[in-house]
Amino acid sequence: MGPFQSLVLLSFLSTAAASEEWCYASQLCHNPGCRDPRNWFVVNKECGGKTQSPINIVTNKVETDWNLTPFKFENYQNVQENKWILKNTGHSVQVDLDESAKISSGGLETTYRAVQFHFHWGSNHSHETAPGSEHTIDGERYAMELHIVHIKDQHKDIGEALSNNGVAVLGFFIQTGDENKDYNNLISKFQDVPYHGNKTEMASLPLSSFIPKEEDLSEYYRYNGSLTTPGCSEGVIWTLFKEPIILSSTQVQEFWMKLYFNKDLPMEDNFRPVQSLGARTVYKSDSNALLPRAKTLLLLPVASYLLLSFTQ
Ligand SMILES: [Zn+2]
Repeated sequence: MGPFQSLVLLSFLSTAAASEEWCYASQLCHNPGCRDPRNWFVVNKECGGKTQSPINIVTNKVETDWNLTPFKFENYQNVQENKWILKNTGHSVQVDLDESAKISSGGLETTYRAVQFHFHWGSNHSHETAPGSEHTIDGERYAMELHIVHIKDQHKDIGEALSNNGVAVLGFFIQTGDENKDYNNLISKFQDVPYHGNKTEMASLPLSSFIPKEEDLSEYYRYNGSLTTPGCSEGVIWTLFKEPIILSSTQVQEFWMKLYFNKDLPMEDNFRPVQSLGARTVYKSDSNALLPRAKTLLLLPVASYLLLSFTQ
């Protein structure tokens, strides 16, 4: 093939690559050719599916599912053996885990292991802070959202899990308030991963130090959705805990001040707009863990009454 044909082929390939590239709306000004969330279905057909995430949770339409018992957290309290890999993925800041932390119960049919966690956040323009959680509750958006991605223990990696409905994500809302000292170590490493592709190692920390206390995690929402970035694979089991993580507004700011999509473009508003719920139902856990006992107490007088009426 001559140089002209090569040039044509090259330019065709680079155009094709650009059209495959996905981005958040906040990146459009720097990269007008990229596909923003409204056009992610062009990048991957599944992004236009019927059971996509995130969603808005309408609390008065949520149904209680008595099978949604508290989670069993295994190795969440421990420092992991291997170092953590902290990286800028170009869309978020992510920590790859050594996969020793596990979850079970919580209405899950089997044990899942934690493979990575990452965050979604908002922005700050002219001193106005805009929140950036992906899920919303009755239309309200939280400051940020933490996703801990888990795969069924039987799968070898996330790819295998995604093609077998084997992914469960624990989602935690982040609200501003007091400083959370447990986050300072992680946040201080952001300066080492400002740009897409940057990676660094850090001493591992107990996963439990990043989330609310276990006894505050019995109340949560559950629905079936998808990954919130392309390829938007469906069959993901979502859990969103009611109890938020608290970070100070200064800590939240560190995310968009230290991290960049690419040079000169701060990583901001890296959340997908909410998707339609469609025919799905959102469930919630039993809001009163003591309820089984309370029910017994209520039933006792009825049982005694029946017993009495039979013996009479
Ligand atoms: Zn996420």
